[in-house]
Amino acid sequence: MTRVGVLGGGQLGRMLALAGYPLDLSFRFLDPAPDAAAGRFAEHIVGDYSDVEVLSRFASGLDVITYEFENVPVDSARLLSKLTPVYPPPQALEMAQDRVVEKSFFRRLGILTPDFAQVDTRSGLDVALSRIGLPAVLKTRRFGYDGKGQLLLRRPDDVEQAWDALGGRSLILERLVPFDRELSVIAVRDRKGSLAFYPLVENHHSEGILRLSLAPAPELAPAMQSAAEEYATRLLKALDYVGVLAIELFQVGGELIANEMAPRVHNSGHWTIEGAATSQFENHLRAIAGLPLGSTTAMGFSAMLNIIGELPDAQSVLAVPGAHLHLYGKAPRPGRKLGHITLSASNLDTLKRGVEQLQIAMPSPLH
Ligand code: AMP
Repeated sequence: MTRVGVLGGGQLGRMLALAGYPLDLSFRFLDPAPDAAAGRFAEHIVGDYSDVEVLSRFASGLDVITYEFENVPVDSARLLSKLTPVYPPPQALEMAQDRVVEKSFFRRLGILTPDFAQVDTRSGLDVALSRIGLPAVLKTRRFGYDGKGQLLLRRPDDVEQAWDALGGRSLILERLVPFDRELSVIAVRDRKGSLAFYPLVENHHSEGILRLSLAPAPELAPAMQSAAEEYATRLLKALDYVGVLAIELFQVGGELIANEMAPRVHNSGHWTIEGAATSQFENHLRAIAGLPLGSTTAMGFSAMLNIIGELPDAQSVLAVPGAHLHLYGKAPRPGRKLGHITLSASNLDTLKRGVEQLQIAMPSPLH
């Protein structure tokens, strides 16, 4: 039996455990929250990610360590990697934690990014604005998620207010990309260096939070898929990566512009549980446990709808043909991801009809 340690015990950890039990993997989670979503399923150490005593207790007896959120302190991941293999490599965490470092890395690898500039002072913001222009997005370099820590600057009047809200921290100014749509690719690399890619997914956000994914992305030119796989291949190889990597992309005409990467299983890959031959969770575990990867082929068409803030009526959701309900056992709170629904269909029209039915069954608007 392979003993897997996971830093972070949220819903991603919970779904990793669910995918790992058929392979007879066992799990230990480290998460400071006593009510962490994965805690009901496996051993859960409640403690701080930076506490050396906690980390050594966590690592004791484990075969491999992974993480399910990217704000794990890099120093802790490095410390753990001296005791037990840590996948994906801590260097991937380091790249993903700082938007300037991440985008500079993308550029070095020939991956297109929005124009960006580092901003540390109020006068530095003016210099950045003169180069990037408006409209633009001002973001914190670190610890942003689900649209938090970022503001849209449309007119010169917006600048002062944005600085009041975000100034004092290290920031990045990015050109607002006039994208046709948002896509993401999920890729996986195993310990021997074999690669696999899921089909590109089309993502719809509202208030910075992912609401709906369509998989595979409708009306996708094959060249888009190849371009996304090329980006992922460069990143996976450069980082000597093991595990699942997600890249969030903007499609502009025939071009893909990379927004950010997540060195972990990703919300836009939840559809793979029912919609692909092997789920992203199982493939991540296969990769880190030294097992061969499974097929990433999509089976028909899938939609994934996030349940945010308020729980829907399970009766109405499951009455929609092809719907699967995943609840994370979390207490409802505005803006909180409480679960998701995957809808599977054999064609796109049926899928779209099902999505409309589900949107009626959901308590909050999805767009
Ligand atoms: P992020 O936290 O960087 O993933 O941003 C959250 C969402 O804000 C993205 O999914 C986009 O919808 C939007 N966004 C962020 N950065 C940009 C940008 N440079 N241009 C256009 N939209 C953006």
